[in-house]
Amino acid sequence: MAGPVVIAGAGQGGLQAAISLRQAGFDGPVTLIGSEPGLPYQRPPLSKAYLKDGDADALALRPQSFFETKDVTYLPETTVTRIDRDAGRVEVTGPAGDSALPYENLVLATGTRNMRPPIEGLEHACDLRTLADARTLRGRLDAPRRIAVIGGGFIGLEFAAVAVKQGHEVAVIEAAPRLMARAVSPLMSNRFATLHRDWGAELFLGQPAVSVDEAGVTLADGTRVPADFVLLAAGVQPNVELAEDAGLETANGIRVDTRLRTSDPAISALGDCASFPDPRTGRHVRLESVQAATDHARLIAARIAGDDPDGPDYAAVPWFWSDQGDRKLQIAGFAGGPDTTDEAVTENVVARFDEHGLAAVETINAARVHMKVRRMLASADPIELSLLEELAAA
Ligand SMILES: Cc1cc2nc3c(=O)[nH]c(=O)nc-3n(C[C@H](O)[C@H](O)[C@H](O)COP(=O)(O)OP(=O)(O)OC[C@H]3O[C@@H](n4cnc5c(N)ncnc54)[C@H](O)[C@@H]3O)c2cc1C
Repeated sequence: MAGPVVIAGAGQGGLQAAISLRQAGFDGPVTLIGSEPGLPYQRPPLSKAYLKDGDADALALRPQSFFETKDVTYLPETTVTRIDRDAGRVEVTGPAGDSALPYENLVLATGTRNMRPPIEGLEHACDLRTLADARTLRGRLDAPRRIAVIGGGFIGLEFAAVAVKQGHEVAVIEAAPRLMARAVSPLMSNRFATLHRDWGAELFLGQPAVSVDEAGVTLADGTRVPADFVLLAAGVQPNVELAEDAGLETANGIRVDTRLRTSDPAISALGDCASFPDPRTGRHVRLESVQAATDHARLIAARIAGDDPDGPDYAAVPWFWSDQGDRKLQIAGFAGGPDTTDEAVTENVVARFDEHGLAAVETINAARVHMKVRRMLASADPIELSLLEELAAA
């Protein structure tokens, strides 16, 4: 029988690693360890459907029976506190007390936690990262309120769109001069700024928040944004401390190679906490998406189950989505480089090019174009703007 696999972190990627190991025929012991209570769940609905329907059961990624049927040991409310690489084991603490578990392969799937920017009074702000956070937030939406959202990224804007639709007064405060600046083109930022204003949100762009109190938020220029409650959605930072303490290489995430191995080949890292070579550019990137977490997990599981030193490198095309109001923003590919040229193919389709060619295509409510571009990016053929124009017009 194969040696034990321990997976630290039972979110989207950690659970997928357990699923994929069994699918790949891995017959050794698999232990999935997660700090949070309950079954592993999906986070994307926390800022979308869950805020509206409050259906926590619908979030579970697999039922309890999965763990019995697939012979996966699941330890909820249990935290990996230390990796002992010399002994090949992890130390954990949980409801059963402290213990140590041996591994032949360890998968780090520890995700991220919310960033705490230097803003005074953040104890008055809510977070939106876990189901527990979302439950608290939902409770605050029970009566009409004035809400300030610090952070104009995907999560803050998804929340803002739901809250405005429910009749709340919403202000979005973004330190950068445009919305979703790390993730989308200026053209898309402007498009969504117009949409959010049309839906009724007030936007404060290029205005860092400096303090939060019980009555609202104060911005750097002294502007006061009154609010009954404040959501902090100002980005995340990767959970790398376990890896760092174990002497593994980290730099904006746990650094892995093209086969997602850390600087110790017995330890892999995936998803939000991993910094991996972008297959298209070779540059190390860290992506916060369901796609990256699950595709990483599949490759790591196949490698461990197959034990193939010459197996394939990670080559998946990145893709993202964000539901804001009645608009589905989808991004095929990833434009993370410094020199990107953007072209509006139509009002709802933006192409982003860099020195390697087409980097990403952003679409609004155009799932067919998005899926076709994903397939095109997966092939090695160069993609010209004219081809995208034909595709968008079809
Ligand atoms: C509100 C919200 C909306 C989102 N919407 C989208 C979306 O629309 N589309 C999209 O692609 N992505 C979305 N995401 C991002 C997506 O959910 C993440 O990219 C994905 O969950 C990453 O999976 P992961 O396994 O790397 O980390 P996670 O799913 O975050 O799981 C990590 C887990 O590890 C646990 N952990 C950490 N340290 C330890 C330890 N030492 N021991 C044990 N357990 C530990 C954590 O408690 C956590 O449960 C959203 C995220 C949030 C919060």
